[in-house]
Amino acid sequence: MNTGNKHILDHGTVKVVDFGPFLDGSDREGVADAVLESFKTIGFVYLANHGLPHDKISSMFEWSKKLFDLPLEIKQLAPHPESGAHHRGYSAPGREAVKKRTHADREGSGPASGNGAAETASDNVRRDIKENFECGREDFEDMPNIWYPDGILPGFKEACLEFYWILDKMEREILKALALSFKLPDGYFLNFHANSENQLRLLHYPSVLADVLEDKEASRIPAHSDYGTITLLLQDDIGGLEVEDAHNPGTYASVPPIPDTLLVNAGDFLMRWSNDTIKSTVHRVRAPPSVDSKSGKVIPSRYSIPYFCGADSSTVVDCIPSTWSEDRPKLYPPTSAGEYIKARLAANYA
Ligand code: CA
Repeated sequence: MNTGNKHILDHGTVKVVDFGPFLDGSDREGVADAVLESFKTIGFVYLANHGLPHDKISSMFEWSKKLFDLPLEIKQLAPHPESGAHHRGYSAPGREAVKKRTHADREGSGPASGNGAAETASDNVRRDIKENFECGREDFEDMPNIWYPDGILPGFKEACLEFYWILDKMEREILKALALSFKLPDGYFLNFHANSENQLRLLHYPSVLADVLEDKEASRIPAHSDYGTITLLLQDDIGGLEVEDAHNPGTYASVPPIPDTLLVNAGDFLMRWSNDTIKSTVHRVRAPPSVDSKSGKVIPSRYSIPYFCGADSSTVVDCIPSTWSEDRPKLYPPTSAGEYIKARLAANYA
């Protein structure tokens, strides 16, 4: 769909928006409108000229590779706790289960449950073929970080924390754009994200036989939507990410890696907050279209770095002004991100 917004550089399934004119101030409103339009139509947008330092991005991918190259027994020295609500440390392949959730499930589940309540675990929980390491800001008492003992990967902790704050800064620019797009003051969303309750995840999908990904019991990551405000995604050049077509539930379109862009998607909490005007789109990771995925072929490993941005857990939010009116009443009562997100985390970690 070509809407004539000059900041939209590419009109693929997911649009590429030039974020530069927002950052340099030359056309903040035009960029903000393009971002919101993408969030309303598909829930995903690529940002070009995002301003993130290239050397820091490649260095974080190098740290990720160094970590996942270590022997399993070493990687497990910073173990992810058993508790489903404490998302920190290392999770080995097959550890996390994500509830399969489709557009149709959500449509049918209504505002009160919002979580695909009709699903059964046996049908919809599948083992993931991935390993990951998660951390947050260092002084977050609700969810302390879990680091490796001294002597293992020296410099890793510092690199993670530096990258965490680089992406936190990026998040704040996007939240300012979002506020502007709703004709709200710059700080509208920032006020609900003052505490930086975000999560940096280093993700590795090991190389795998194509046959395994075809098996319904396993996938790189099954269909799901994110639960927070927004997710920033950096990925290598392997690909495999797909988004569900809201108009044709069950069908997926490829979201290929585009060099030097940052992929951003809206989460369920933002969808709810926006009175469902913004879409939190179901997505999954499968064998990339660029590689031969015939039986017996090996699908190469993939590295990605998602950064999950959540609102402050104790702050209550109500539907964003301008997303509701007499004609379009609020679909949801006020809630706090903490209550909402903890329930989602607990449900997703089995
Ligand atoms: Ca996701």
